[in-house]
Amino acid sequence: MIYLDHNATTEPAPEAIVEMVDAMERAWANPSSMHVPGQAARSLLADARTRVARFLGCAGAELVFTSGATESNTMAILGALAARRAEGRTRLLLSAVEHPGLLALAARLEAEGVPVSRIPVDRQGRIDLAAAQALLGPDVAVISVMGANNETGVRMPLAELQALARGCGAWLHVDATQLVAKAPLHFATSGIELMSVSAHKLHGPKGVGALLVRKGLALPSLLNGRQERQRRGGTENTPGIAGFAAACDRAAMTLADDIARMAALRDRLQAELLRTLPAVHVYGAQAERLPNTLCVRFGPLHSDPVLGKLERAGVMVSSGAACTAAGTAPSHVLLAMGETAEQAQSGIRFSLGRDTTAAEIEATVAAVYRAVGPMLGAAGLAVPEFSTSPQPALADAMAA
Ligand code: PMP
Repeated sequence: MIYLDHNATTEPAPEAIVEMVDAMERAWANPSSMHVPGQAARSLLADARTRVARFLGCAGAELVFTSGATESNTMAILGALAARRAEGRTRLLLSAVEHPGLLALAARLEAEGVPVSRIPVDRQGRIDLAAAQALLGPDVAVISVMGANNETGVRMPLAELQALARGCGAWLHVDATQLVAKAPLHFATSGIELMSVSAHKLHGPKGVGALLVRKGLALPSLLNGRQERQRRGGTENTPGIAGFAAACDRAAMTLADDIARMAALRDRLQAELLRTLPAVHVYGAQAERLPNTLCVRFGPLHSDPVLGKLERAGVMVSSGAACTAAGTAPSHVLLAMGETAEQAQSGIRFSLGRDTTAAEIEATVAAVYRAVGPMLGAAGLAVPEFSTSPQPALADAMAA
């Protein structure tokens, strides 16, 4: 099996599994308990906080552990709206290509009477900064944008958005779920007020993540209770948090190399698909993208049969967001980029991981050709004979 669906989730790192088991065996007590076992759990939590904060470039006190990015996003938006209401800042501004969970929250708030504005993206999937600027006003409480899109990998212009937000006095919330471990992140120097992350996208466990809250911001909590400095109630998920910390340490060890290698492999995959098959459309090709993501459409082919064929060939990929893969609804991301409803049901996402090898990419190119070539031929397109790349073998090129 070749797993190229790392934007959906990643395999837990061995280091994370070891620390999680250790936390359950040795530090299973309640971190709020005053006795000796409680102290052991408390010190595990403090140690994990330091390590995650180091990786994300924030202070330990700015880190609130949550159940993942969906909760972090919800806490950020509801918290910001509540915190800023008294200033007359009641409006939420978010991009049209946010994660479905966040868009659903915005729709619910809108139905309840909260003013919501959606920032469009261009054909490349980049936020339209002029449109964002035009939507700003003294009533905006918070602007919410993702660091990079999970379907296309297109990165958002965070520095420019941060300047816009600052200029109008709005807070900026960044859903950085797809950015972690695929780009260097440094919260302290970013100027961003709120940032969501999730452990399972960087080889940590599911059901744990964090919201980074800039020092000095009074953000009401979603779950009331004493934990996390009154910001997130509920007994801490110590095994999950320990696994998250281990995943961060492991990611930090090889971050720059991983980014460079994934980018080289992704670029090769893209070039080879374009070379071997006709009518391959690459989404966001002109935009700055995550190093690991390639989202394409194979001419007129609907994604469902393509996914089925690739899966039978042992290549695990996804159509747009995994969270909506069960349905046949067109991708809201591709629609926002100006695709037709039919085209927006045709996106295929390849997302590489830090352990993806050159051999896997070469095998993927051949498997895609065998699976998709005949379908494109049946759709009336001229498909050339398969030929191996005139470039040096990928493994050799990367070793050089
Ligand atoms: N935001 C983005 C950009 C994501 O890709 C995901 C995961 N699909 C989430 C939020 C939700 O993260 P979690 O699974 O931790 O709730």
